[in-house]
Amino acid sequence: MSMGVFWFRRDLRLADNPLLAKAANECDRLLPLYIDDPGEGTEWAEGAASRWWLQHSLASLNRELNRRGTRLSVRRGRPSEVLPKLVQTLGAERVYWNCRYEPQALVAERNTLAALRLLGCRGESGRASLLTIPESSGKPDGTPYRVFTAFWRARQRAGLDLDVRPAPARLPPPPHLPDEVIDLPLPGQWSDKFSAHWEPGERPAERRLQQFIEDGLGVYPGCRDFPARAGTSRLSPHLHFGEIGPRQIVAAVQAWAAESGQESAAESFLRQLGWREFAHHLLYHFPETPNRPLDLRFERFRWASDYGKSLTAWRRAETGFPIIDAGLRELWETGWMHNRVRLITASFLTKNLLVPWQEGAHWFWDTLLDADLANNTLGWQWVAGCGADAAPWFRIFNPVVQAERFDPQGDYVRRWLPALRRLEGKKAHQPWKSDCSRTNYPPPMVDLKTTRERALLRFRKLPKRG
Ligand code: FAD
Repeated sequence: MSMGVFWFRRDLRLADNPLLAKAANECDRLLPLYIDDPGEGTEWAEGAASRWWLQHSLASLNRELNRRGTRLSVRRGRPSEVLPKLVQTLGAERVYWNCRYEPQALVAERNTLAALRLLGCRGESGRASLLTIPESSGKPDGTPYRVFTAFWRARQRAGLDLDVRPAPARLPPPPHLPDEVIDLPLPGQWSDKFSAHWEPGERPAERRLQQFIEDGLGVYPGCRDFPARAGTSRLSPHLHFGEIGPRQIVAAVQAWAAESGQESAAESFLRQLGWREFAHHLLYHFPETPNRPLDLRFERFRWASDYGKSLTAWRRAETGFPIIDAGLRELWETGWMHNRVRLITASFLTKNLLVPWQEGAHWFWDTLLDADLANNTLGWQWVAGCGADAAPWFRIFNPVVQAERFDPQGDYVRRWLPALRRLEGKKAHQPWKSDCSRTNYPPPMVDLKTTRERALLRFRKLPKRG
């Protein structure tokens, strides 16, 4: 009788999980396991919104496992301690898992592998969360790509592996273990409202993809920048937790493109998945970047020295600029923010308020349901101008111009800011020009022109690129 453990990580799905299928073939008994490693004391331990998603996603995974004759076991602690103990108790010969690329997760994986080896147990890790393999995604000369277009072109030339397998119909029964029921602590009442907007789990992820392909993909290029429309897939939290894999998405999108002939819409969407690949490539090759700028000149940049009040106003959606406050409200209410608005809010924080990008990245980390160390780091560094392929630092989004362009009727800001409901059309973007007593909305916290010039002056003081 061969005994194995399948360690679920950010691959909380049964379909397109080749190593799970392999484990099911090789083992007579298989323990499906999740290890809750809250990483206490570590800076990038899961944020509050992520914990909400995780809890529901694990419950959903357990239901899927139950349908296949088994169940999820959840333990708490360091994987390098939990797994060897379990392996010894069960007499397991093999442990399977899929790789994660966050620096701490890589360390956890290495330590676990070493601890298993000491016990003579085989650890096998697979690659299910990305289309590319960061370990071998460098340039021909071995150095990592720092420009997205070159990176993505090379990946496309190399061809993407699209061998997508369905979920196994049955899984081996679990071993007999003394039951240990662990509930993950939920982050309190704030997160209760997320269920009105989201349904975590593998089946909901597949439904969302199908719905997006049917209703949204054809118009994606024209709609994706308009936050008032449901113009993007909203797959990001499902993708982050691995409830759906990128191969499944690419295969479904390509099948749709072949049938509909809408190659360019498909291409525009797949390019966004390409950014996700690029973000993971960067995080793998530059593991210090969640905290340090990739462009080291920015370590000397003079951020505002006393930014506490500015940061609080931004977090509380009290900046007095409707597009920014609406975005931060959307984030607080739903655990998600539209990409265009992420760009505008991040630009305002780092450039008009001169608050270090790491502060914004931490707030997103705690409040986003799709908080993802690779994508979040890339997003913040891109906006701040200090990352790979970053926006030039002199590009400072004007929140009013951006709002008028991407929310031309003001629908988005009125949706999230009830105080502005009576201001029609574009007027909602500049409430200070209307009779303020009608709005009960704060005045702008800074002057856009002066703060823009202050930022440009500081950027000019950076040493020239070597
Ligand atoms: P779609 O437009 O439908 O795109 C499909 C998928 O492609 C997304 O689900 C996502 O996985 C990927 N993707 C799209 N845009 C990007 C991008 N710019 N970079 C990397 N991957 C991308 N995304 C996260 O998943 N987690 C984060 O923590 C995160 N933080 C961000 C912070 C900032 C400051 C910025 C500017 C962007 C951030 N993004 C992050 C990227 C992007 O905003 C979200 O991926 C996107 O809004 C998710 O919505 P969607 O699934 O509808 O996207």
